[in-house]
Amino acid sequence: MTTPTPIRDEFNWELPAEAITVRVRWFGLCMGYVLVNLVGPGTHQPELNAILTVGAVYAIIDTYFSLKGRVFLSRAPLFISLMEAVFIGLLCYFDTGLESPFRFYYFLSLLVCAIRYAPLVTFITFVMHAASYSTLAAMGSVDISAPWRTVALMVVLMGWVGWASTALAALIKTASQRLSQLNAELKENQALLEHRIDERTRELQESQALLVQQEKQAAFGLLAAGIAHEVGNPLAAISSLVQMMNRRDLDDYTHERMRMVDEQLRRIQRTLRELVDFSRPATTETALCDVHEALDAALSIAKYYKRKKGKQIVTDYENDLPRVMVVRDQLVQVFLNLILNAMDATPEGGTIEIATVRRDNWLLSTFKDNGHGIERADQSRLFRPYFTTKSTGTGLGLFVCRRIIEQTGGRIELTESSVDGTTFTVSLPLLENSVEGSDAVQQSGGVQSLANETLSLS
Ligand code: ADP
Repeated sequence: MTTPTPIRDEFNWELPAEAITVRVRWFGLCMGYVLVNLVGPGTHQPELNAILTVGAVYAIIDTYFSLKGRVFLSRAPLFISLMEAVFIGLLCYFDTGLESPFRFYYFLSLLVCAIRYAPLVTFITFVMHAASYSTLAAMGSVDISAPWRTVALMVVLMGWVGWASTALAALIKTASQRLSQLNAELKENQALLEHRIDERTRELQESQALLVQQEKQAAFGLLAAGIAHEVGNPLAAISSLVQMMNRRDLDDYTHERMRMVDEQLRRIQRTLRELVDFSRPATTETALCDVHEALDAALSIAKYYKRKKGKQIVTDYENDLPRVMVVRDQLVQVFLNLILNAMDATPEGGTIEIATVRRDNWLLSTFKDNGHGIERADQSRLFRPYFTTKSTGTGLGLFVCRRIIEQTGGRIELTESSVDGTTFTVSLPLLENSVEGSDAVQQSGGVQSLANETLSLS
């Protein structure tokens, strides 16, 4: 069974985090413009507007990248943190210093930093922001009573925000990673399930095809036995009447004609017997079988096929081949199907060559015809159930053949096909230490001798 390729669906955290950052930046900038220009325009309004505009240019570039599905300066997070520390520091400096409302931007900066980057980057950013804010106090541009206490309080708050945001982001990251992992597993399982359903459906179709074939064969067997019985009885009666009359004192001409009638009657009986033999419930026992005997049995049935007319069948059997371990009737069925297919494909005057040969521990039987061949696109579908190009075909022949041959540990292959004809090869495994047995020779020709028997069908 082939296993489907595993699906990996990694959750990309970077882009959604960047989208949040972009929004936070624009919110900060808009708030900044409102504070500087509307709420409390101070003495440094132009400088503050200029700083905010630099921030806006950066935000535009950032937004552009984000819309393109990329992250601006993604490989330099500390540089971004440094820019933000300087940017917020300058805003506070030109505004009201340590008590400027822009100091809350440090929190926003730490928040987005925690969402986007590893805890270490957030920690370094916290240090940068603490330094930026402390610088304001150190520069003395303050007129509050206890500047260092304010700095200390702000640094504690920054640390708090930084830690809380990092913990929260880690929690969300872990949850989303777990979710995406579960999602990938779910998809993998789904693919596996679909694959299994496909396999089971195919198996079901194949067993159904086998059942259909077996049903047909059973029905055919019953029908043939019935016909043989119905036709056989009157035939036997006619035959005995002819023999009785022939014993009378008749002239030579009538004797001769009676003998000819009797001969034809025996021929019909022989044909009936072969039909019954072929369609009797098949044996299912595996036993050592002579491949040549099976081939001859198949040929003795195939000769009645209506499309046999005008076609030559040539056999080339290797002498003294060892016997193979198979279910004899099934092997006959395989050979018969290959011969009938070859007859269907060949035009009148065509030739079908059947050969056997031993190759190491394999016994090969080849069926070569000079028919119309098989289209390249059809070649891969030959052994699938219900594949047929014939208007009256079932498409089950080769499929059943493959089943039977594979059960014996052998192979059936299309070895060649072109506009000049087709060759199928059946390879059957020989038992270890198989020797050319005289038993095989004894068995061969069984069907022929049967055909010569005088049969009474009752
Ligand atoms: P069916 O005989 O009912 O069509 P098979 O499974 O025996 O079913 O054969 C499937 C198809 O394979 C045939 O319809 C035919 O197209 C192709 N095929 C089999 N044997 C030959 C051959 N010797 N030459 C050309 N086509 C063949």
